Amino acid sequence: MHHGGVYVEGSQAMHNVNIVVNNDMCTGCCECIGACTQNNICIMMSKTVGHPVPFISDEDCNNCGDCLKACPQAALLIKELA
Ligand code: SF4
Ligand code: SF4
Repeated sequence: MHHGGVYVEGSQAMHNVNIVVNNDMCTGCCECIGACTQNNICIMMSKTVGHPVPFISDEDCNNCGDCLKACPQAALLIKELA
């Protein structure tokens, strides 16, 4: 999997996958936050990106994939952990 431009938030792995945000694609629209039934996504301003970006914790994530489906930019990816 290509990891360029991708970073991982909350990478205390409790699952064999986690969700990562591609900053190059994300517009900060917040659609992913509303889609998460686990309340597992919060958004914070990123100085480096220049707009708010979601922070996705592994803690309560059940890997349902709803945030990926909700993202109009396809900015969310599932990263397989080693
Ligand atoms: S995969 Fe599901 S539970 Fe995990 S962050 Fe996305 S919407 Fe929330
Ligand atoms: S839905 Fe996609 S583009 Fe919108 S804030 Fe979430 S990751 Fe970024």
